[in-house]
Amino acid sequence: MTRFKPELSDRYGRRFSYLRLSITDVCNFRCHYCLPDGYQKTDQPEPLTLAEMAPLLQTFAHLGTRKIRITGGEPSVRKDLTDIISLAAQTPGIEQVALTTNGYRLADQVDDWQQAGLQRLNLSIDSLDPQQFAAITGYSHLDRIMAGLERALSLGLDVKINAVLLRGFNSERLQQFLDWIKHTPVTLRFIELMETGDHPVFFAEHHVSGESIRQQLRDTGWQVAMRHQHDGPAEEFSHPDYRGKLGLIMPYSKDFCSSCNRLRISSLGKLHLCLFGEQGYDIRSLLQPGVDPELLVAELEQRLGLKDETHYLQSGNTGATRHFAMLGG
Ligand code: SAM
Ligand code: SF4
Repeated sequence: MTRFKPELSDRYGRRFSYLRLSITDVCNFRCHYCLPDGYQKTDQPEPLTLAEMAPLLQTFAHLGTRKIRITGGEPSVRKDLTDIISLAAQTPGIEQVALTTNGYRLADQVDDWQQAGLQRLNLSIDSLDPQQFAAITGYSHLDRIMAGLERALSLGLDVKINAVLLRGFNSERLQQFLDWIKHTPVTLRFIELMETGDHPVFFAEHHVSGESIRQQLRDTGWQVAMRHQHDGPAEEFSHPDYRGKLGLIMPYSKDFCSSCNRLRISSLGKLHLCLFGEQGYDIRSLLQPGVDPELLVAELEQRLGLKDETHYLQSGNTGATRHFAMLGG
């Protein structure tokens, strides 16, 4: 394979330098909006192995991918997570390795993850109130997760906190979050709840727009922060009196998809052009020993030509996405 082609791009001029790699769909939490009954075992094949991930990552890097986010399900349920981080970090061309986690194993393992090459961490904390946290995720693990967060910060990792905005749960607790980031150097991002195939009723009852928070921030001296290449879709705000920053991810807002820069691979080796949409294109057979890497290059370039301009979530079309543990959000 000749080295480093220009970035993958689509017919709408979007360039794709960011890959979200789901390494499992298993999870040890039961978030109401995702896996309210917990992970249900099926007899599907095993997730991608390290040996299959190596050519995958090399080919994506060759096609201009510079940032890898490892996600799940809960990625830390895999015993070889540290090796996967190391593989990604050592792939020539990959400049940033990030992980999204519920934080259950953070305190015990973050030192190893950082030594393996992890630079960025997204940690999901939907509430700072222990009881509300347990009500949303199914488990009373907030203390444990906060201990992990402290450790990650003490190691100097770049940490973002994800909180899914939920009417009737955390959406009335903005002040508690603001008080927290006054002294905590993290970026806290509120994510609007997205509708998925399994949870239309939960969505209807708990979705709330981030627009009122945006207005409140503007009225109280928060400034829109500058964007960087490989940044996700969050609009970020900073304030001189706060050590932390705030972000809003509003997938229902107009033009949300115009800055899309990411592709997704499921834990079973399917390429997804969008979080919502098609069933995924199986590329696992192209990751096997002896297969010419140019075949995967050709497949990726051809599939990208099919990427739609936008998701159709506004019209309630969730595509094949039953819940986010399938694909990592
Ligand atoms: N288990 C890990 C975690 O929770 O961070 C990684 C996977 S999880 C699917 C990735 C992110 O997607 C989490 O921040 C989670 O809160 C978010 N998420 C899950 N379902 C969602 C939904 N329906 N709408 C918006 N965000 C969602
Ligand atoms: Fe698990 Fe993450 Fe889904 Fe919660 S959001 S159930 S932690 S995969």
